[in-house]
Amino acid sequence: MGAISIRKVVKRYGLGHKANQVIHGVDAEIADGEFVVIVGPSGCGKSTLLRMVAGLEDISDGEIAIGGRVVNDTEPSERDIAMVFQNYALYPHMSVFDNMAYGLKIAKVPVAEIKTRVDKAARILELGALLSRKPRELSGGQRQRVAMGRAIVRQPQVFLFDEPLSNLDAKLRVQTRLEIQKLHRELGVTSLFVTHDQVEAMTLAQRMIVMNAGRMEQIGTPEAVYQRPATTFVAGFIGSPPMNLLRGQADGSRFTLAGQALALPVSAPRGGELILGLRPEHAALARNGAAGWPLKVEMIEMLGAERLVHGRVGDAPFTVRIDGTLHPPQPGDLVHVRMNGDHLHWFDATSQQRV
Ligand code: ADP
Repeated sequence: MGAISIRKVVKRYGLGHKANQVIHGVDAEIADGEFVVIVGPSGCGKSTLLRMVAGLEDISDGEIAIGGRVVNDTEPSERDIAMVFQNYALYPHMSVFDNMAYGLKIAKVPVAEIKTRVDKAARILELGALLSRKPRELSGGQRQRVAMGRAIVRQPQVFLFDEPLSNLDAKLRVQTRLEIQKLHRELGVTSLFVTHDQVEAMTLAQRMIVMNAGRMEQIGTPEAVYQRPATTFVAGFIGSPPMNLLRGQADGSRFTLAGQALALPVSAPRGGELILGLRPEHAALARNGAAGWPLKVEMIEMLGAERLVHGRVGDAPFTVRIDGTLHPPQPGDLVHVRMNGDHLHWFDATSQQRV
């Protein structure tokens, strides 16, 4: 019913030799009822892709289908979608009820049906007690819930979310994230959600699309993307702090980095120039005198349950996550790092693809 097919989609702004291509052939199949997050840094083309699905931007090349129907030339109002934006775009002079009901009134839905749908949405979003208030009498989180309510009452095949949590403070973001998850569990509507925040993507997505410079770097479950990043870009973007990436020469169970040959806990997959990836939680400080890779400590960050030890291995930045109760090294110390051999990632130094 609400599946979305994105096939070889290209977007160019402008015409002829002045055209600027910002989406370079994206392919993705989103199943009916699935919650997919598009994540990537600012300017990578996430909103443009979402807006092409919505019909707010023309598709320069390729095809988008919703529910099996190609919608390239279909008006937004005919696509059976509802969109939730970052700025809630509520009508300030209308009550919460009227804000949610407005689109249905315009569509000439019978009054009794409107009331049923708005009441149901208000119940799901816990807005029942606020229906007669004006938007200015609501908190930011409540306003965003009204904006979601307005999308729900339309009973669309697809929800499109464009950074809907960006205007909320940290605590409300977490709370609203949980509400969106609950909403999806209850309604099971296909959802496409855009964010630049990788934590938001990891926590909300059934599958995520990681984008970089107008290209899809990887699509998969949060676990798959985290555990087996397809490229160095994904390795560095997903996870906080990011994966350590070291460029060097692999030769069996040795890795040469800035002239130092260091022992690997397991053999490299092949010889030659490679990038070795290791997450900060998969490294540990070696006990006094034990062997390991030399790390020149530059800075310690206390996060409560854990500390981050930042420094350099050779000339490459490197971070180790340690238990917050351990006595930390000091800036300027030379310590040794052990790596968990089960969690080494290898990338081709030229293509930046996983080996
Ligand atoms: P994101 O949502 O990932 O931050 P966007 O989809 O907004 O990125 O933008 C992708 C690229 O397209 C950017 O380089 C941006 O400058 C460009 N772009 C977006 N909208 C327009 C436009 N209307 N005209 C020209 N270029 C645009």
